[in-house]
Amino acid sequence: TNTKRKPIVIANWKLNGGLELICTSVASFIGKHFEADIAICPPYIYMRDMLTFLQHSEISIGSQNVSKFKSGAYTGETSAQMLKEAGCKLCLIGHSERRSMFKENNLSCQIKIGNALNHGLMPILCVGENKEEHDAKITKDVIFRQVTECLEGVELDGRKICIAYEPIWAIGTGASATPEIAQDVHSFIRQELIKLYGEETANSIRLLYGGSVTKDNAKDLLAKEDVDGLLVGGASLDPGHFLAICQHA
Ligand code: PGA
Repeated sequence: TNTKRKPIVIANWKLNGGLELICTSVASFIGKHFEADIAICPPYIYMRDMLTFLQHSEISIGSQNVSKFKSGAYTGETSAQMLKEAGCKLCLIGHSERRSMFKENNLSCQIKIGNALNHGLMPILCVGENKEEHDAKITKDVIFRQVTECLEGVELDGRKICIAYEPIWAIGTGASATPEIAQDVHSFIRQELIKLYGEETANSIRLLYGGSVTKDNAKDLLAKEDVDGLLVGGASLDPGHFLAICQHA
């Protein structure tokens, strides 16, 4: 990690957790100081409880998704404005599970990024290639398309965004990308961001790695120049384990 960028570690609980996990997480995180920015993305229904419990802590709350719509007849949706009002600081956008199971694409991500930025939420754009693409060695083509299409027309103007590189073959499989692979893809993303936004902005954007992150590989991943943070799924469901990862950052 470059010392100019503050590391960030985000827990993605997915469709997991309950009151018990909230209580044990709160107990492990309250009163602790971290060198990194730390956020937890629980299911929507638990955000308010967690915010209340964690209000005097250094932990932020994020959402796992945001609607591309602003308001109206969209049953089951939650808008960026509502998330902001609820105290949410950031939102994941375009996680591969949303792309594959809920028909999200680069265009919907682009709209969601705009909504998040307009309401003061920090978007965490997720990108990553699948196993076939990885084996065919077309990772960078896939990432290029995702990054450029998702960010098309997105003006940052000093507003913050993060990008999470999550190779699909590494998510939930126990087979994390090596620090070298992560660094290679992250530096490619950084180069593309320089073309889109110029050096200064691109160098301020934090790039997270996600996919089977554990307390055992966190340190080596974060040691890489362009790995500025981690997006943690499975290991974040064990508060002690997640705490250990946060303390590496
Ligand atoms: P994992 O999930 O850590 O369980 O691999 C990461 C993610 O999907 O964000």
